[in-house]
Amino acid sequence: MDLLVVGSGLFGLTIAERAATQLGLKVTIIDRRDHLGGNAYSQVEPETGIEYHRYGAHLFHTSNEVVWDYVNQFTSFTDYVHRVYTTHRGEVFPMPVNLGTINQFFRSAYGPDQARALIAEQAAELGGKEPTNFVEKGISLIGRPLYEAFFMNYTAKQWQTDPAELGPEIISRLPVRFTYDNRYFSDKYEGLPTDGYGPWLERMADHPNIEVVLGTDFFDESQPLHKAATVGQVPVIFTGPIDRYFADQLGALSWRTLDFELEVAATPDFQGTPVMNYSDLDVPYTRIHEFRHFHPERAYTSPKTVIMKEYSRFAGPGDEPYYPVNTAQDREKLLGYRDLTEAEPQVLFGGRLGTYQYLDMHMAIASALSRFDSVVRPWFGAAN
Ligand code: FAD
Ligand code: UDP
Repeated sequence: MDLLVVGSGLFGLTIAERAATQLGLKVTIIDRRDHLGGNAYSQVEPETGIEYHRYGAHLFHTSNEVVWDYVNQFTSFTDYVHRVYTTHRGEVFPMPVNLGTINQFFRSAYGPDQARALIAEQAAELGGKEPTNFVEKGISLIGRPLYEAFFMNYTAKQWQTDPAELGPEIISRLPVRFTYDNRYFSDKYEGLPTDGYGPWLERMADHPNIEVVLGTDFFDESQPLHKAATVGQVPVIFTGPIDRYFADQLGALSWRTLDFELEVAATPDFQGTPVMNYSDLDVPYTRIHEFRHFHPERAYTSPKTVIMKEYSRFAGPGDEPYYPVNTAQDREKLLGYRDLTEAEPQVLFGGRLGTYQYLDMHMAIASALSRFDSVVRPWFGAAN
């Protein structure tokens, strides 16, 4: 083995694939789960034959040409375009906030300029202050009434953190449009892997130089490929949680976890759309996914449908960490952990868990491609 990759998510898979195909290295990937692919993994629900995303709906989108060319080596993509609706006080609105949402909410027929003027008037309560947190950013983008209807309670359910403590970048992930365009993403390329995420991710590791060892935890000293037995002996790509790598010695970073409730419902169509958000507190889950709607091009014939309710809460010990909460204290701890990484011999910390960063799939792949060139190639004396 020339290189050990801990974690078979898109970051680890991309580095492994590049190392095997570009440098001819022998790569071992370990993962503590019983499948590869990390959170993007999907599988087929046996009763209905419908593909479902085991860790919550994953929509691929990017404007990065390099990433788009790279992923197309392993899969083609459908022409799926993501659209989301949200239920508020018994009424369904399009999300993200667009002219349709604004006019439905205010029972009005504003044109783009009038709607902009209305939001600007509502945002004036900030007195021109540069928004520094989630609430202020929300009010600056959509005004208080829309913020309170669609973001305040949904975010309370999702983050269980005072929105004033959350960063403005979280709400900026969603566009606000003064047109009727209700696409969820604004990227140049968007789609779902034609044969599903499982086959895409498996193809990335399908190389004679890549060995995948599942059910192996890097911190389990009874396994041959554990931390103490490998670090310093072989270069390591670590994509697990950075705080766990250092045994939480500076304190645990805070993460959110999700609980997914999968159900086969006895109707061919439960909600008529792939994702329905629930923006009020009386519904305990944040959203319901209905997977058959992600692939209208497939001839799913089951008279039943697969739905998944998503609940969010703080991660405790033993829970899967999904989203970095990233409070000011977390950011301070992270700086400390980053200092500790400097002293690790030939260990690259990457991906969502390894860098404590929210990364979409295309960002994880872009980061892996660039760190492969800047860090991994030089380890092996290879020129760019
Ligand atoms: P991961 O996929 O998390 O992979 C890390 C791997 O490391 C896991 O398989 C884990 O089991 C393994 N591991 C951890 N610790 C150890 C250990 N000690 N020993 C061995 N193995 C270990 N992105 C999009 O672009 N579009 C979306 O719609 C989207 N939706 C998302 C929805 C949810 C609910 C979540 C959580 C993420 C979503 N993402 C989405 C982000 C996407 O999942 C990530 O970009 C992608 O998974 C990043 O890959 P990664 O390799 O960094 O991490
Ligand atoms: N959000 C919200 N209401 C919605 C959709 C999103 O309040 O109907 C907020 C929520 O705080 C979320 C953030 O906007 O974390 C970003 O939305 P995105 O769809 O990117 O959510 P995530 O990936 O966190 O599920």
